[in-house]
Amino acid sequence: MVKIPKSHPRYWSLYYREKIIEGMEKGMTAKAGLIAHGRGEAFDYLIGEKTIEPAERAMKVAVAKFLLAEWPVISVNGNVAALVPEETVELAKVLNAKLEINLFYRTEDRVRAIADELRKYGAKEVLGINPTKRIPGLEHERGKADENGIWKADVVLVPLEDGDRTEALVRMGKFVVTVDLNPLSRSARMADITIVDNIVRAYPRMIELAKEMRKLPREELEDIVRSYDNGKTLSDVLVHIRNRLTRLAEEGIWRKKEI
Ligand code: ATP
Ligand code: MG
Repeated sequence: MVKIPKSHPRYWSLYYREKIIEGMEKGMTAKAGLIAHGRGEAFDYLIGEKTIEPAERAMKVAVAKFLLAEWPVISVNGNVAALVPEETVELAKVLNAKLEINLFYRTEDRVRAIADELRKYGAKEVLGINPTKRIPGLEHERGKADENGIWKADVVLVPLEDGDRTEALVRMGKFVVTVDLNPLSRSARMADITIVDNIVRAYPRMIELAKEMRKLPREELEDIVRSYDNGKTLSDVLVHIRNRLTRLAEEGIWRKKEI
């Protein structure tokens, strides 16, 4: 990995860019994944590169829903494996969820590289290596699902996911949670719970929440889920961006070191 000086004002942004490039060099991340990452970065600038209240709220409900689930599954793609491999394995552990590799640009080599990476961080079971089922409404490669994973799941977490596949999972009756920095994307609009945050911040926070919340009684978790409104969350994200841009426009940003 290219050495980035810690003193660089955009250190973390450059650090995760390098992680994505490294993911590609390891054979995990697709070229289109690089572009998707750039789109995410742009939206992160707009929200202010920190976890905002609507994301924190959505994460809490998502964790509650996962703790209540019968067959929870966390999906992993090439960008996720490049950015948060360790956190993915840890999150699955604390939520008692299965891990399934689920690729938009599926190749067997990429599947293998991602499985190796997850196992390196302690994953015992990795699904999606020999998927035998098909998600209705999606063409062959894109619709593959593991019989013991997404196929059987009641609750799925599909971070950084394509909108069409998100919609197909919703149509199948799955409860779908996504992590997506773009509140306007089709995935963000289709999911049951949308966490508008960078996955590098969201996963560590969800691990913390899971450790706290798994002690709660089921009734309390059910209450948390019942009162949730994803439409309101998405609107609150848009209002946050609007207010932030209005404030920045009024204060002025020219030659400001921090915004
Ligand atoms: P859709 O089909 O949902 O309208 P899309 O074309 O944006 O959208 P993809 O490019 O497949 O679909 O999805 C990747 C999504 O992930 C993008 O919306 C992007 O904003 C988001 N994204 C990229 N990197 C991150 C990240 N690090 N954390 C959270 N979201 C991210
Ligand atoms: Mg999307």
